[in-house]
Amino acid sequence: MATIFTKIINGEIPCYKVAEDSKHIAFLDINPNAKGHTLCIPKEETNRIFDMGEQAYLELMQFSRKVAIGLEKAVSCKRVGVSVVGLEVPHVHVHLIPLNDMKEMTFQHKVKMTENEFITLAKSINSKL
Ligand code: AMP
Repeated sequence: MATIFTKIINGEIPCYKVAEDSKHIAFLDINPNAKGHTLCIPKEETNRIFDMGEQAYLELMQFSRKVAIGLEKAVSCKRVGVSVVGLEVPHVHVHLIPLNDMKEMTFQHKVKMTENEFITLAKSINSKL
């Protein structure tokens, strides 16, 4: 069965899109650790990151780096943290998390955002790419 992220890629469910190229898409995490928490995913569905071919893995990291640089320009933070988990959604995704405090890397600390904030932030990050 297609993962929820494949449904996003196919346009079956909406997302707050930040960036896209032919092989990847980046969108805001719906339950963010911090404002600007972004997920970068390959369009080809793979469960575990180290099962990706080396080329596809490197391309995902290259795409994530580009998004992270834009994110750091758009959101005030000390730095952007990177994490790969995948315990909830079995479709490779790189978490990019604007950090001001270590608690934002824990996935226990969540922030609420309005629909309008999601829309504005996604556009703002995109404009910095
Ligand atoms: P994990 O698989 O543990 O790395 O976590 C999956 C992440 O995907 C969590 O941070 C969720 O908040 C996020 N997530 C789940 N569904 C969606 C969705 N429809 N749109 C955006 N983010 C999502």
